[in-house]
Amino acid sequence: MRSHSTPQRLLLLLLLLLAASLALAGTLGRDELARRFPAPLMVGERAADLPAWPLFKQNGTATQLVGYVFESADLAPIPGFAGVPINLLVAIDPQGVFLDVAVLSQHEPVFLDGLGEAPLLAFVGQYKGASLSQSIEVGGAGGANRVRLDGVAKATASVRILNQSVLSAALQVARAKLGFAAGRDPSRIGRIRADVFAPMDARALQAAGLLAHLRVLNRDVEALFAGSAGAGLDAQALAQPDAVFIDLYLAWASVPSAGRNLLDAPSWRRLGNRLEPGDHALLALSSGRHGILSEAFVRGSVPGAIALRQDRLPLELRDLDLALTLAPGVTLPATELVALRVIAQAGLDPAQPLEFALPLTRSKGIVYPEKITRELRLRYQLPARFYIEPEAVAPAWHASWRNRLPHLIVLGVALALLGLGLAYSKGLARNAARLAWLRRAWLLFTVVFIGYIAQAQLSIVNITGVLQALRAGRSLGFLLFDPMTLALSIVVLFSLFAWGRGAFCGWLCPYGALQEFAAWAGKLLRLPQLRIKRRLDLRLKRAKYGVLAAIVLSSLLLPALCDRLVEIEPFKTAITLGFVRAWPFVAWAGGLLALSMVSYKFFCRYLCPFGAALALLGKVRLLDTILRRAECGTPCQTCRHRCAYGAIEASGKVQYDECFQCLDCVAIYESDALCAPRILEKKRARSIPIVPVA
Ligand code: SF4
Ligand code: SF4
Repeated sequence: MRSHSTPQRLLLLLLLLLAASLALAGTLGRDELARRFPAPLMVGERAADLPAWPLFKQNGTATQLVGYVFESADLAPIPGFAGVPINLLVAIDPQGVFLDVAVLSQHEPVFLDGLGEAPLLAFVGQYKGASLSQSIEVGGAGGANRVRLDGVAKATASVRILNQSVLSAALQVARAKLGFAAGRDPSRIGRIRADVFAPMDARALQAAGLLAHLRVLNRDVEALFAGSAGAGLDAQALAQPDAVFIDLYLAWASVPSAGRNLLDAPSWRRLGNRLEPGDHALLALSSGRHGILSEAFVRGSVPGAIALRQDRLPLELRDLDLALTLAPGVTLPATELVALRVIAQAGLDPAQPLEFALPLTRSKGIVYPEKITRELRLRYQLPARFYIEPEAVAPAWHASWRNRLPHLIVLGVALALLGLGLAYSKGLARNAARLAWLRRAWLLFTVVFIGYIAQAQLSIVNITGVLQALRAGRSLGFLLFDPMTLALSIVVLFSLFAWGRGAFCGWLCPYGALQEFAAWAGKLLRLPQLRIKRRLDLRLKRAKYGVLAAIVLSSLLLPALCDRLVEIEPFKTAITLGFVRAWPFVAWAGGLLALSMVSYKFFCRYLCPFGAALALLGKVRLLDTILRRAECGTPCQTCRHRCAYGAIEASGKVQYDECFQCLDCVAIYESDALCAPRILEKKRARSIPIVPVA
């Protein structure tokens, strides 16, 4: 690039577009949803608090809620690799079971003209019947309370992002509408051990921590209100300060060692029959003047006299309205015996402490009475031997990093070796023949490992994906789902400071390496080489910046056009899909390789938008790593003529925007047989001075 002003203007334009970002929203209205969920289903009014529609069904004379339907882009717009979220239509039933998941729109490069949408549709078909209270993982181990979704080869990272979107969106609806826990995923909590039972009396239950006890006297309650407007308002408390206000015992009744020991056999059975899988029952036994069940209490409803919290989040307790009898031998002072239920979806975690609160309210005044409220609290921690520990919560992208660890190690070692080689390029290039073979071996590794095995071909799509995500104000967290690409991108970004684009384009680009092999084959076959005049060469080199500008602008303004324009890059066809694709794409990728046999790396030098982007980003380069002599350019032009990339100016200056760090010129610099100034120097040293005979 002759002038820096064009890229700078381009950057300014990009920043303006970023500032004018708009978020992608859902697309379907109620009519379209009604078409997709026909009779006997009915689509209700969109919920006021979140973008989800209830689904109803006529059941006799009653209208029954059968689920909720929503678009994932409205609730969890997690960008995919094009920077745009995959939008899915998700329907769940009132228990959090998936009724259906359908793809509404997607821009994943691998599913656009690559693998096609069929594998994606097959993937989302796996959600049907899976429950939000299970752990749903892509390629996970499966097993109890887990659902394993089969991944899609070559698209694992994309479907992991999709899974994250589906679960995040569905959990939001389940929490808002289905009573699911607000802060805890039901799949990530401890489980009661139904197999553990030990006969115990009430005293042993208390000692074991299964029965919590709170005994409060009138004077204690009075002390709670002391200093407030509520002090001294309870005449009975003042008259009988030592009388019992409440004597409360609480037990986790669905834990067998608690419930079976406290209740008689028929009551224990009745309790079990009323609970759905995963539900919890708590037993409150109280006596004293303050009860759990007030006179106004309606059985089967939520009691106002006791509340449950976990992690400061309230969980609904509902009276089971069961007539229960204590087991013979249990002699606890109980005038009230109430079984309360917490539904499975609430995410009550047996591994975390419970906090029970009994609100006490006093009124002062008659016309506009002042309400003064205090709380009695009771903490309950289920002993560890009665539950199975919850699994450690790991972010979804962790699995990608775990699975790719061997590849990351190989890549890390390879990149360290490359860094050393380029840093000591003089040593590497000392022997031109050895350098040529080392390079071929390296490029073979790049094609086979980085390209085909690790699927880490960096591409312009990585850049447009980031731009589109930033433009829409979305997180870049999706990058974490493809560890190889992310790791390589970070290293390449750092390499720009030392070598400009050359470290990547010369050594780490699988398609670039393929072109180099094609060029080598062309030479072996003695194919005639196209001679492009220097003036035309300079003009053509600018073309790639035009391609880059078109792609970047379309990614921000016309994403659908961008999806087509990025196909100028043959990387997806040649590397990601291994040439298994529709023939026009294969012809383009193969044709460019054939062209490389007669015109050295034609695509790299003239068309590649990613190479152009790296050349622009490479302006941050701080070092001049290519060794030069005073004679380079004046008068010597050897390197200039040998540089296959035309990256050396007539003055001898290296144009790093075009330099691929192939080190061919360094090998010449180091060679006594190739470097003209060195040859001359050597000749001079060898010449025998003519000394006049005395
Ligand atoms: S110019 Fe493009 S194809 Fe060539 S090596 Fe660089 S990124 Fe790869
Ligand atoms: S020969 Fe050309 S491309 Fe290769 S290192 Fe030298 S200047 Fe760069």
